[in-house]
Amino acid sequence: MLSGPSGVGKGSVIAVVRRRHPDVWLSVSVTTRSPRPGETDGVQYHFVSPEEFAAMAERGDLLEHASYAGNSYGTPRAPVQEQLAAGRPALLEIELQGARQVRQSMPEAQLVFLKPPSFEELTRRLKGRGTEAPERVLERLQLAMTEMAAEPEFDVAVVNDDLEHAADRLVELMKIT
Ligand code: 5GP
Repeated sequence: MLSGPSGVGKGSVIAVVRRRHPDVWLSVSVTTRSPRPGETDGVQYHFVSPEEFAAMAERGDLLEHASYAGNSYGTPRAPVQEQLAAGRPALLEIELQGARQVRQSMPEAQLVFLKPPSFEELTRRLKGRGTEAPERVLERLQLAMTEMAAEPEFDVAVVNDDLEHAADRLVELMKIT
């Protein structure tokens, strides 16, 4: 399971891992956030209404779920269970609250924390991404400070100083050959 502050490059590192190992299975989360330009329903996320999300959570269909920057995010339980039952590794990209829930319900899961080389660099990346309005960037930076403080809760930290290098580490940790 990969976590780390918004803007640190979780998505980019995972993209490199999957380019090298197309068979790596990545959980597709559900979210109530609106798609960003270029995002497709069912690919980056399943985009759902708040009502649909609440119904899924209520039914216990989500392995974990959390609110983040005004939206809800969750991991559909069944696909993860299918992967694990088949003996295949499952990769989850989730924020801190969700990581804590998975830690509780699946103590055997490996929690990897992706961190920026510095907080200044994270600020630069979040602003530079240009996908969020300025007030949203500030909100995400504040959340990032809390998330950075949680690093000791994770099994291992990987610094995203270089995408290829961080992807190498993640591949190593997932024991993919
Ligand atoms: P974004 O809106 O930038 O796509 O995602 C915001 C945050 O939500 C990121 O830190 C991302 O890792 C996290 N996230 C994405 N999917 C899930 C999920 O299913 N559960 C949880 N708890 N967090 C998620």
